[in-house]
Amino acid sequence: MKVTFVYPGYFKDTGDGWISAGLCLLSSSIKQRGHESSLVDFRGLNSWDEYRERLKILKPQVLAVTAATVYFPVALRAAEIAKQLMPDLIVVIGGIHATLMPEEVSSHNCFDHIVLGEGEVSFTELIDALESGKSEKRIIQGKRPELDSLPFADRDLFDTQEYPFFKDLPLPFVTIISSRGCPYQCTFCQPAEKMVFGAHVRKRTVGHVIGELKLLREKYNFQSLMIHDDCLTADKAWVREFCREYKLNGFTQPWVCQVKANHVCSSPELIGEMKGAGLKAVHIGFESGNQRMLDLMKKGCTVEQNYEAYKILKQFGLEIQGMFIIGLPTETKEEVGDTIRMIKSMQLERPVLTFFTPYPGTELYEYCKEKGLLTITDYSDFDRSKMSPKIKGIDYNELLKIADSVAPGARLKNIVKSGFRFLFGESYGNGLIEFVKKQKNRNDRVWPLSAGQK
Ligand code: SF4
Repeated sequence: MKVTFVYPGYFKDTGDGWISAGLCLLSSSIKQRGHESSLVDFRGLNSWDEYRERLKILKPQVLAVTAATVYFPVALRAAEIAKQLMPDLIVVIGGIHATLMPEEVSSHNCFDHIVLGEGEVSFTELIDALESGKSEKRIIQGKRPELDSLPFADRDLFDTQEYPFFKDLPLPFVTIISSRGCPYQCTFCQPAEKMVFGAHVRKRTVGHVIGELKLLREKYNFQSLMIHDDCLTADKAWVREFCREYKLNGFTQPWVCQVKANHVCSSPELIGEMKGAGLKAVHIGFESGNQRMLDLMKKGCTVEQNYEAYKILKQFGLEIQGMFIIGLPTETKEEVGDTIRMIKSMQLERPVLTFFTPYPGTELYEYCKEKGLLTITDYSDFDRSKMSPKIKGIDYNELLKIADSVAPGARLKNIVKSGFRFLFGESYGNGLIEFVKKQKNRNDRVWPLSAGQK
């Protein structure tokens, strides 16, 4: 079968420099069964007409659309247009939004099949079944795969390079995921994350990850890496083994990962081992400088741990992207002030400040719904980096002023207008401009159709 994947975004959106690991794994899974795959990446398109042209060239038998909530309107329109253009086309949707909101998604007739949860096994079975003319259920619960049994991600699906948030990391840069699931209960994230990946954390073996890295070294000569797990440092033994094997196998490329403040504090020596194996920078969700807000978020960390973790990471000479959330339900001006004081007291290479966004499927979404606080009507406002009003009872003008006080001159709305996400901070200065330019070049460079598709 000829399957075209759709990665929805907003046209020429320069915000996300990473591939979709999910789509790449679906692509390699179906290719293993002899099917063909191609991609339409909306981040590189200019218009719906361009999308129509791509479809006419690619002539898929199956269109497989994924979508996070923020991009669901794009996914829906993409499916509707494809159905109008090719009435025999089978359209399948999967991904986070479909998994969390199956009723909403299934109310749209343009979706012939809806795959919930993880798709590698069940989507592949569906494509096999469609090829042999068998009929399949409309809503399919994805079977959880044994991660080591999956083929390596088909990165060539995305005809583009990935870019790191830390500007000093050398290119080519790649992202890799070694596990699925998270043991924590953060209320702005759970239980949505568990609905997608299940209640238990599943890990690839270190050997499997190193095997993929060897392939990436051979094929792309990658020069830096992000291990993109939700909670890598929860399994210390795994991280230790990885650090050992990374060095033993001759890898010297610097890498980045996410860490959690309580893990950093409980095992500073682990951070030392990671640093010794090339860890260069970390992403860390400090989230708040106020304990009541950390508790509301069930972050599992204290304010003191946030400060302590910062100190430890700095002692190891690591660059830090620190992430913070303001505008939480019931948060007072003084409590926001605690977070701003925390940001200002830290020398973060990348401070990232966002407004709380109530994502469907999360505990805080349900809380906001129950209290009548939900206001988002435009799906694009589910973008957590968009500094737009998210819930009732928050003075967003005040929050924007506070945001400006943290990053003088870096008007968020301008950054957002340019399609650029997440960046926020006086320390970033020229790096930001350079990064935006790179992203623009990336789009100019990589999005024209490749020779085989013309
Ligand atoms: S925010 Fe991160 S640590 Fe918290 S539950 Fe979600 S994935 Fe886990």
